[in-house]
Amino acid sequence: MPNICSFQLLLLASLSVTSQSIEASTCFGTPRKGRIEGAVALPTDGPNFKAYSLVGVTLRRNYVHEKVRDVVVAAYALLEKKLPDQTFVYGETGWPKGGDFAPHKTHQNGLSVDFMVPLRNPQGEAVEFPSSVMNKWGYGLEFDAKGRLGDLTIDFNAVALHLQALDEAAQKAGLRIRHVIFEPEYQGMLRAAPAWKKLSFPLYPNKVWVRHDEHYHVEFQTDCKP
Ligand SMILES: [Zn+2]
Repeated sequence: MPNICSFQLLLLASLSVTSQSIEASTCFGTPRKGRIEGAVALPTDGPNFKAYSLVGVTLRRNYVHEKVRDVVVAAYALLEKKLPDQTFVYGETGWPKGGDFAPHKTHQNGLSVDFMVPLRNPQGEAVEFPSSVMNKWGYGLEFDAKGRLGDLTIDFNAVALHLQALDEAAQKAGLRIRHVIFEPEYQGMLRAAPAWKKLSFPLYPNKVWVRHDEHYHVEFQTDCKP
């Protein structure tokens, strides 16, 4: 029989576990059919990144699992040193409670994040991704087979560094990355970028239902409940 003092300690310990589990995000199901409890919003902006749309943020279309938020923010912090001139723009993630997230086919359980492509102009200067309501917050933009749109070109070197930063931050946080979806015709240019290094996760090799030219989709992986 525990005495009163150890009983109180037990009670305190169980209360602290309960409050932790209330705060922690819990994902259910899969990115295609799932939901999430305790999701958190990605920050609207930071020193070298911002959300694709204030309307999207206001509508709360930027929620993720808390581990995903921590990894996304930590990766941006790594990029501040490696690529100080780029401002990165993230795209849609998911609803606070997950579930159907049209027009996306996944993004249902807090583990999917879209990142808009970093860009450079003909002078080699970093240019912020031009997302606006006129181009469906960036998703309506069409880049050509070489990754060009007008005088803007996708900065494949920055994409390579970003994926490495996500890989490093995820490994530190004990979070896996299942795969990255990026237009297959761009993957050769990505692998040819000076900063490219082998990643611990695959680039999805096939075409998917919609062309992933203006953004790359990162699918994280953690233990979710059924
Ligand atoms: Zn996506």
